[in-house]
Amino acid sequence: MKRRLLDLLACPSCLSFPLELIVEREEEEGGLPNVPDKPICEKWCAFTQSKPEDPDDCVKCMGLEVVMGTLLCRGCGSKFSVEGGVPRMLRAEDLSSKD
Ligand SMILES: [Zn+2]
Ligand SMILES: [Zn+2]
Repeated sequence: MKRRLLDLLACPSCLSFPLELIVEREEEEGGLPNVPDKPICEKWCAFTQSKPEDPDDCVKCMGLEVVMGTLLCRGCGSKFSVEGGVPRMLRAEDLSSKD
């Protein structure tokens, strides 16, 4: 997953935003995108841990793939693991019950 995703994800339990990312392993991806006119992240850039201001920073956060880590909610303490680059945001009950 990209750090960019933290600009889009809220805690599924309590809707806290942003989630905290603890990176265990990340890989650099080749071919950085061109520097855009404005930051790619809108509300929260997990690369700088602040409000997005510099488009340069977002190019860096787009160029890194988080392979292993943990997403932590400061609101309710929920933890979600990132495995193989995929955040496991859904709990078992979310998968079985749809109304
Ligand atoms: Zn960013
Ligand atoms: Zn939460």
